[in-house]
Amino acid sequence: MSLITVERKILEKNDEIANINREKFRFKGMFTLNLVSSPGSGKTCLIEQTIKLLKEKMNIAVIEGDVQTNIDAQRIDALGVPVVQIVTNGACHLDAMLVRDAFQKLNDIDINILFIENVGNLVCPAAYDLGEEMKVVIISTTEGDDKPLKYPAIFRNSEVLVINKIDLLPHVNCDVDTIIKNAHSINSGLKVFEVSCTSMEGINEWCEFLLYEVKSQ
Ligand code: MG
Ligand code: ZN
Repeated sequence: MSLITVERKILEKNDEIANINREKFRFKGMFTLNLVSSPGSGKTCLIEQTIKLLKEKMNIAVIEGDVQTNIDAQRIDALGVPVVQIVTNGACHLDAMLVRDAFQKLNDIDINILFIENVGNLVCPAAYDLGEEMKVVIISTTEGDDKPLKYPAIFRNSEVLVINKIDLLPHVNCDVDTIIKNAHSINSGLKVFEVSCTSMEGINEWCEFLLYEVKSQ
């Protein structure tokens, strides 16, 4: 029983700081997204392709979460976009405190969209509010169409589902309609984008959505 109490206290403290983060992000007029997926679903690829299409139109910044390396942050840095790396040293999710501290390095920059790339994991990132406006869950067609049923919490807590690697559909045993049906059985309000960061299919629609949300901030 004491374990449950400790966990609840940690989450309460996290939510308190997440709410302060969110107020700060909104005050700055930023649209903030928390990108969650399994390792290898294409979070960094999606951010890279989005930057290429949108960086002339708006100011983008990225907070990169990683268990061990700064490889992803180097990829973002190569595109000339401000990026802060959080290395969790083994921890399997970001929390609101880590994001608060990382954001201090971006505080003085004019930002329209902030992407927070979470650690590759579909389990605990679902429970940790970072202060984002929206959670985006990404799944790729190589992962199988039963993911929403196996990891319902992250699909319930997200506003957007991005199905990535649709260029691989002819080669994998995955049905996009089944992914969508399973995801909507958990969260009927999920907005869905089908994309390929390789062929660029669907990336324009995703960017149009982001543009619209930025203008609404
Ligand atoms: Mg990555
Ligand atoms: Zn974790």
